[in-house]
Amino acid sequence: MFRFFDMPVLHATRLGPSMVRITLAAPDGFVSGGRDQRFKLFFPHPHQDRPVMPDVPDDDWFAAWRALDPSERAVMRTFTVRAQRPGEVDVDFALHGDLGPASRWASTAGPGDRLLALGPTAPDNGGVEFAPPPSARTILIAGDESALPAIGANLESLPPATTAHVYVQIAHDDDRQDLPRDVTWLVRNRDEPLTEAVRKAPPADYAWIAGEAGAVRTMRRHLVKDRGMPRESVEFMGYWRQGSTEETLLAETLAGATPHTPED
Ligand SMILES: Cc1cc2nc3c(=O)[nH]c(=O)nc-3n(C[C@H](O)[C@H](O)[C@H](O)COP(=O)(O)OP(=O)(O)OC[C@H]3O[C@@H](n4cnc5c(N)ncnc54)[C@H](O)[C@@H]3O)c2cc1C
Repeated sequence: MFRFFDMPVLHATRLGPSMVRITLAAPDGFVSGGRDQRFKLFFPHPHQDRPVMPDVPDDDWFAAWRALDPSERAVMRTFTVRAQRPGEVDVDFALHGDLGPASRWASTAGPGDRLLALGPTAPDNGGVEFAPPPSARTILIAGDESALPAIGANLESLPPATTAHVYVQIAHDDDRQDLPRDVTWLVRNRDEPLTEAVRKAPPADYAWIAGEAGAVRTMRRHLVKDRGMPRESVEFMGYWRQGSTEETLLAETLAGATPHTPED
């Protein structure tokens, strides 16, 4: 359902102070399932002109990639397919400074830069979570800027009859985007926190929440514990964790130490 694709940059478009849209060439066979379709991107280090991967069959890549020198092997990160058109794919990067290799790369990326993707090859590929049941008349969507690409695509997939209460935390007013539904934009350090807004949100039959892992956990706990929403009606994804790189999170997962507590 996933395989490797060479995806050179076609162009970069600044969407706001903290967000850049990178349009990548999408070779034949790349098939997004839409909505919050996730996939892996592999970035070069600053001293390289392309991501370095082991020369092994696709099925054997993971162990071989892990065995390579971390300062040389491609940097793997998870992103969302914001949109797919014939021959191209948009990926929206929330820029959060030079500390993150993906954020650093995206802030200067331009035509011809090389990326590798482990991307979907069929619409039903196991990498899509947003799936409100047809019976859900009102849904709640909440996330920060890392989840904004998925939120945009999720909203585009909604039937007109579904009511959506949508809350997005952003860094600057100018990071707001035109989306097909009304959104409550919450500017960090100015407006109330996302967790508070969700606490006050109207009741919903289904919820999708993503963004910083600690905030996501707080929101999910509120929805499941305080409101009594059924667990299966609350889709939640930690997209990043304050103070941890994606490598640290992967290492924890591999060690069986994912930060889930019993009440999760
Ligand atoms: C399923 C899924 C889909 C995702 N889709 C997208 C997407 O479409 N667009 C997008 O921008 N991100 C998306 N993310 C989040 C992205 O994978 C992380 O933000 C990732 O850590 C970025 O890698 P990096 O190399 O820039 O930073 P890392 O090297 O992983 O982290 C470096 C430092 O930056 C901090 N950091 C990481 N991300 C952020 C952030 N967003 N804001 C502030 N600080 C941060 C970390 O805590 C760490 O201290 C997604 C994540 C998942 C799991």
